[in-house]
Amino acid sequence: MAFDPSTSFADLREKNPACAYLLTGNQAESRRESGLRFAQELLCEKTPRPFGCECPGCAKALMGNHADLFWLSRAEDEKNIKIKRVRDLIHWAAFKPYEARVKVAVIEETDRLSEEGAQALLKTLEEPPARTIFLLLAQTKFQLLDTIQSRCFHVRLKAPLMPTESSAGPVALDLTLLPDYFEKAANYKKDKALDFFDSLLATFHVRLRSSAASGDAPASLEWTEAVDAAYEAKEAVEGNTNPKLAVSFLSNRLSHLQGMKV
Ligand SMILES: [Zn+2]
Repeated sequence: MAFDPSTSFADLREKNPACAYLLTGNQAESRRESGLRFAQELLCEKTPRPFGCECPGCAKALMGNHADLFWLSRAEDEKNIKIKRVRDLIHWAAFKPYEARVKVAVIEETDRLSEEGAQALLKTLEEPPARTIFLLLAQTKFQLLDTIQSRCFHVRLKAPLMPTESSAGPVALDLTLLPDYFEKAANYKKDKALDFFDSLLATFHVRLRSSAASGDAPASLEWTEAVDAAYEAKEAVEGNTNPKLAVSFLSNRLSHLQGMKV
């Protein structure tokens, strides 16, 4: 699901309880921020967690010294997160929480786990410890093992997208010309394909907002799916999927739009 970080992690947790969440998004800063906020939500001593809570659980999570929070990030001089550090985390995760209701294990760059590290994590996710919740952060899901992805509830963090009128920003597209755009885009290299996806996203967002404002639920759903599809294509190309493939896949996914009154 696509997730707007301004909404509540409590809602997410309530509606989609899982032992592992995969949080993906483009900006490292926003991933870290979301990981921390989600961890605070889980470690907070109050229910429901008040906005901006500073209880000992939330404060310690923020300071990085909560006994029930394990934050695994890559050492600067390491290319990958080594197996030993994953084993430390798994060992820690097996014990009961010290003071909170649950323990929270955050892996900051899950896409940078060594192969052995990823296998060890997978084994743990297959038989997860009862009271530990894993928050796996990554730029995209595509660099992770399918088997890890399938064990997680996937949350795509939406970067705030501001359609802009300046010529440098994404441009609004004339959707009646969609087939022509896709034909041209089939030859785009990575950067141009990403610009194309941004323009599609900006255009779909505008449609989504206006259909939601007019209470047209079926159209809103269509546009939400279009936004999701375009996000996924963008993520795939950012994760080094061949742009031609991503464009063609997206074109198929959006083929129904070509029959819509756009
Ligand atoms: Zn709190």
